[in-house]
Amino acid sequence: MRIARIAHATGMSFAVLEGEGPGATAAEIEGHPFAQIKMTGQRWALEDVRLLAPILPSKVVCVGRNYAEHAAELGNEVPDEPLIFIKPSTSIIGPGEAVRIPAVSDQVEHEAELAVVVGLPGARGIDKDTAAASIFGYTCANDVTARDLQRKDVQFTRAKGFDSFCPLGPWIETDFDPGDAEIRCEVGGEVRQLGSTKDMVFDPATLISYISQVMTLLPGDVVLTGTPAGVGPLQSGETVSVSVAGIGELSNKVIDSE
Ligand code: ZN
Repeated sequence: MRIARIAHATGMSFAVLEGEGPGATAAEIEGHPFAQIKMTGQRWALEDVRLLAPILPSKVVCVGRNYAEHAAELGNEVPDEPLIFIKPSTSIIGPGEAVRIPAVSDQVEHEAELAVVVGLPGARGIDKDTAAASIFGYTCANDVTARDLQRKDVQFTRAKGFDSFCPLGPWIETDFDPGDAEIRCEVGGEVRQLGSTKDMVFDPATLISYISQVMTLLPGDVVLTGTPAGVGPLQSGETVSVSVAGIGELSNKVIDSE
């Protein structure tokens, strides 16, 4: 099932997306989608609504160096435990919104990632099996990174935390197997990253279990699972697309910050 957050003529709602192409619709959900889903009966043509970031989490927890080839391309070893960091919730933008390049960076890069959305009741100190059961669904993410600032600062908060540096979407797919899905990044139609989730060092359930020993993951919290090899620069005027087979495609234009 595809769950989206939409802006429509009378407000914002979660919705179930049904169908493809011109006949696609968005059926409104009452409240949030994490418990039993109740429909309101309101339905719109998909073309009459705007897709927003599919969730507004309390935090986005990210994992670095979770694909061996990507760790190698930046001259890093694969860590023996997941390397985690946080992107602020204010870095999130939805599909179609603009990634804004800050004036203080000369090297802003894309990182195509599979994003995991935690469901009810959240996750705190849980084992791997419980972590697998705590997953609500999956979406696409772009862990936009000011690489020059990441190198300069050593820790990641500034380089990963600018407003607009976390495109999420286009929706949450609840029926998705993260075992072997193609993950791709295109810039201006040119393929930059092409990998598979099967090459993750730590799988999503392992990551959620690990993170939950450190901090409580609340329902709706998002975990970015790392990026495959091929990260590279984004320039103002380009369009960057992240797609995960079985989920969908997340596209964002790139502009300079004012
Ligand atoms: Zn990343």
